[in-house]
Amino acid sequence: MVGSGILRIFAVRKTTSMNTTGKLYFRYGTMGSAKTALLLTQAYNFEERGMEYLCMKPIIDDREKDNVIRSRIGIERKCEWIYPEMDLYATIKELYERTLVVKDWILIDESQFLSESQVDQLARIVDDYGTNVVCYGLRTDFQSHLFEGSRRLFELADSIDEIKSTCSCGRKTIINARIDSTGQIVTDGAQVEIGGDDKYVALCRRCWRNRRIESASRNTIKFD
Ligand SMILES: [Zn+2]
Repeated sequence: MVGSGILRIFAVRKTTSMNTTGKLYFRYGTMGSAKTALLLTQAYNFEERGMEYLCMKPIIDDREKDNVIRSRIGIERKCEWIYPEMDLYATIKELYERTLVVKDWILIDESQFLSESQVDQLARIVDDYGTNVVCYGLRTDFQSHLFEGSRRLFELADSIDEIKSTCSCGRKTIINARIDSTGQIVTDGAQVEIGGDDKYVALCRRCWRNRRIESASRNTIKFD
């Protein structure tokens, strides 16, 4: 069944390189590591070379109206929303069959918010259609634990790259620490809480530990 799907799509594939083998990429980094800027740079390069690509992003805030991926350096591109229950294999397959074009590349921002099933579905898109799927995202949450999407990407990706950035002490950032309005480290709460520099700071593991000890001792003093 899968085989006939491939044959049908090859027959309508507009772009060249029929024997292209797609890959599933995971490019992870902490907050502020310019992941989105890299994604948008990649999109720009595809446009210059006339390549078919698609940007997608999990919707995490229902109030969000503009379907764009926007970088803090000011560039943006239109994207398709990924809803929590969306079957990405079915959605992308339907798009390919309706437009008669198989995308060379799919770029996904905030891929830590994908479900395990959605990552599996993307892997199938790669294997059945030869599309390259590049997932940009965070490795871990504010408590230093893997996100569901990130875990599955580590398990399945053909290619895994770390996008490095530097803590204020000079070491590599590892942790996306959550902070309150006074800059104290927050250790409890929901895994997903949308925010930028006001709510998160990327730290190396050592600074994260020191900042937690500092926050805990201030709280203790306050209650004494
Ligand atoms: Zn540090």
